Amino acid sequence: MRDIPSEDLVEGRAVIMKKPHPCGGNEWEILRGGADFKLKCLKCGHLIMLDRLKFETSVKRVVCP
Ligand SMILES: [Zn+2]
Repeated sequence: MRDIPSEDLVEGRAVIMKKPHPCGGNEWEILRGGADFKLKCLKCGHLIMLDRLKFETSVKRVVCP
């Protein structure tokens, strides 16, 4: 997503993904950024890894703290 500045896609930020998790949640916390992203579902605690390109195209928006 070119309209999301990369400085917002860093550890500790929460993001809304385009597709909701099967648990029903769509907010994820960024646990680790870089070439690969580690994300935690804030509803069920599930952890996933995504490469940067896939992550950036899956983000809908950043949740403002
Ligand atoms: Zn979940």
